[in-house]
Amino acid sequence: MNEIYNLDIEENFRELGSSVDGISESEAETRLKEFGLNEIVQKRKFNALKIFISQFTNFLVIILVLAGLFKVYQKDFLEAGTIFAIILINAIIGFRQEFKAEEALKALKQISISNAKVIRKGTITSINVKKIVPGDIVLLEEGDKVPADARLIEEIGLKVNESILTGESTPVLKKTGKLLGELQMSERKNMLFANTIIAGGKGKALIVETGHKTEFGKIAQLIEKYPEEATPLLEQINNLAKQLGLGILVIIMILFVVGFVQGKVEPLELLDVSIALAVAAIPEGLPIIFTVSLALGIKALALQNTITRRMTAAETLGSTTVICSDKTGTLTRNELMVKKLFYNNKLIEISGNGYGFQGNFSCMEKELSEEEKKNHELNLLLKIGALCNNASIGEKKEELVGDPTEIALLVSAAKNEKRKEAYNEEFISEFAFDSDRKMMTSIYRKDGKFFAYSKGSSESILERSDYYLENGKRKKLTPGIKESFLLNNEEHAGEGLRVLGFAFKEVKEKEKYEMNEVESKLIFVGFQAMIDTPRLESKKAIEECRKAGIKVKMITGDHLLTAKAIAKELGLINAEGKAITGRELDEMSDEELEKEIENITVFARVNPSHKVRIIKALQQKKHITAMTGDGVNDAPALKKAEIGIAMGLTGTDVAKEAADIVIMDDNFATIVNAIEEGRKIFQNIKNFVKYLLAANLGEIMIIATATFAGFPLPLTIFQILWINLITDGLPATALTNEKIEENVMLQPHRNPNDSILKGLLPFILLGGIISTAASLGAFFIGFNSNESIEEKIILGRTMAFTTLVFFELFFVFNARGEKSTFYSKSIFSNKWLLLAVIGSMILQLLVIYLPFAQPIFSTTELNAIQWIYVIGLSITALAVPDILRIIEKIIEMTGNNKIKYLKTQKE
Ligand code: ATP
Repeated sequence: MNEIYNLDIEENFRELGSSVDGISESEAETRLKEFGLNEIVQKRKFNALKIFISQFTNFLVIILVLAGLFKVYQKDFLEAGTIFAIILINAIIGFRQEFKAEEALKALKQISISNAKVIRKGTITSINVKKIVPGDIVLLEEGDKVPADARLIEEIGLKVNESILTGESTPVLKKTGKLLGELQMSERKNMLFANTIIAGGKGKALIVETGHKTEFGKIAQLIEKYPEEATPLLEQINNLAKQLGLGILVIIMILFVVGFVQGKVEPLELLDVSIALAVAAIPEGLPIIFTVSLALGIKALALQNTITRRMTAAETLGSTTVICSDKTGTLTRNELMVKKLFYNNKLIEISGNGYGFQGNFSCMEKELSEEEKKNHELNLLLKIGALCNNASIGEKKEELVGDPTEIALLVSAAKNEKRKEAYNEEFISEFAFDSDRKMMTSIYRKDGKFFAYSKGSSESILERSDYYLENGKRKKLTPGIKESFLLNNEEHAGEGLRVLGFAFKEVKEKEKYEMNEVESKLIFVGFQAMIDTPRLESKKAIEECRKAGIKVKMITGDHLLTAKAIAKELGLINAEGKAITGRELDEMSDEELEKEIENITVFARVNPSHKVRIIKALQQKKHITAMTGDGVNDAPALKKAEIGIAMGLTGTDVAKEAADIVIMDDNFATIVNAIEEGRKIFQNIKNFVKYLLAANLGEIMIIATATFAGFPLPLTIFQILWINLITDGLPATALTNEKIEENVMLQPHRNPNDSILKGLLPFILLGGIISTAASLGAFFIGFNSNESIEEKIILGRTMAFTTLVFFELFFVFNARGEKSTFYSKSIFSNKWLLLAVIGSMILQLLVIYLPFAQPIFSTTELNAIQWIYVIGLSITALAVPDILRIIEKIIEMTGNNKIKYLKTQKE
């Protein structure tokens, strides 16, 4: 049987019911229904059961199960049943959290960040790669990822990196002709395979298979595509949980031994409580709550146009100290419009609005006559702009596809009533634009003659031009004239305009053209200068960065003066602001750059390789750098930066793959939002760490104090397990939903090497001490207000138990932010938290008042006076942040006094 690659292109078209013009939109929709989305969905292993079972494999839970079995052995079925019920509830809470985290992360992995250019009924449109169907015609160029398996139908020097399929990293040259025989994948030169990368040239291809049916899809089913990665912070938290766990275990063992030796408590009761304490106080849930917070943060980022490609990025974002941003499209709107033309020593102004095709040409405020509009140089200038161009414009805004600079050039030609097609020239070949050369050239055939049309930065074009055109005559481009052109260029650049130079020459017919030969001895025709207005929101975001202590640097391929003018408009630099060019950067040694880097705000006319040097210098200065990029050559810089940011709209697939996050709207303000979100994620993590640890510390200290002092134990096994459910359960989970409203951007950024506990210990310690004091206080009030020893203990325990539960439920309001107190934020700030607290309080009342619960939890009813004590003592939780502040003030004052004292002594 003949394979696709054995057939002629025409036969392929026939088989797939398509043509060079592609299929229609309605046909595409029908096929989408028939073939499904072009994606590879991992077969969903039903992980839920695995996650649920894993809840019981924890060492601590196993101890608890053994304790339960021991109770069964003692025929204490009620207690055994309660232990098992508690284990089950614990497992359900753990399961819920873990499952939530997994689901959230899985959903994010499904988001597709790639678009592809397809031709549908002759019109080029850009669609999400998921919507590609067999029969579609796709256009591919350097940096693109092939969206699905396809048969090549046209190509210009097309090279593809197929290493993802074949392991071979040398790019393969592709050809359109049909191939004979049965061939291996690597030999199918007329085929393109999904997920391989275009390494050079460009091509047009007919999609033949999508999704699972592609070669990649077949392999992907065999491998797990996204290995789970442990982020540095997760590792830190894992270690912290382990170390704390071990420490707590040692303390519990000491307590057990001390209690045993003292002999005041029944050994069995002591063992029960020790087990309960181990289960309750060891923060084994910390890593998973951390993952939930991170996942929720990543979700929040996605809602704000930021796709996180690596978990680590979500953590590091908040620590960013420098943002190095591209100018065009990120800081500016990227809706370029040609405002001025320069040719024949004449300056022409063009009116109009955005990408609209209406606009007049005028010279010295006088509109050009029809005759003047036919001028040879003017038409040639516009023609080069339109033909040396890969963008396309239709009638509607959605039909504008391609690089905005190139769209602007098509629009300027259209304003002179010339569409690309109307020039009637046959495209032959192209040397694509790259940010190192800063230019591109297309070769066309017209009436049997061949012409090279070049456009690019004025310097690049003038450098490669030997002649210039004036009033129909080719003249020698002397250094003096070149200088005057460059001065002219600078004048426009100084106004913030993006100026491109245009040139051409006749070339001979050739099978293969040499770039250096074609791009030399050109005939310079003129300039087109376009405006690219800065984004309003960028200005605000830059100001926000300044307040947050984040430096912003503009890194652009554009002219120094254009870059400076835009930077000034954005408030990025003032008159003294330092701006340098890539050439000056080349002249600096690494040491010099390091010394100067803090002072330089604008880097103009840089190449992607300069970006890596800039990052290295910033890293030497201990900065955490976020760097943007869109081109293929930006990949090394995106990888090198702590946060590589690719542009979702204009970025190549290669840049997106290399990046840590992708900004879907290419907007600088979105980067700043993402940093803010990153800081919030971290704040959220800190919130529950401090809450959980303070609560756990309280539980341990209560038992420890009682054991060492030789008191009866103030809490029983069930009470401790219950407290654990109340604290680790509803409120802690609800805390992860907290909306951080505080201005996190005004707080100092986090050093990624800092321990997660940094700055939290005083709060945790004080919370632990006050909760211990409150519960023990309640215990003694209850203990002393009764006669029989039995009742004394039950009442004392009920009061201590309820005080501790209520304390922790009040305390959680202090953990809603960096310096949060009960009153600093509305209690309705997080409705889940409020519900969790109220729900837990009701559950606590049930445990005290339900007759069947009383014997299990060793509780008894409390009278009004006792309730006043319980509430009075537990509500002290709300004062913890204030007490901490007072203590800090006192320490600060005594510290200052000491310094003053030492000073006066010295004097
Ligand atoms: P930024 O790096 O801020 O996005 P940029 O778009 O100017 O700025 P590059 O894409 O590296 O950076 O472009 C460098 C220069 O090359 C531009 O200033 C312009 O003069 C020229 N240029 C840009 N796009 C094209 C293009 N499509 N064809 C030819 N020349 C171009």
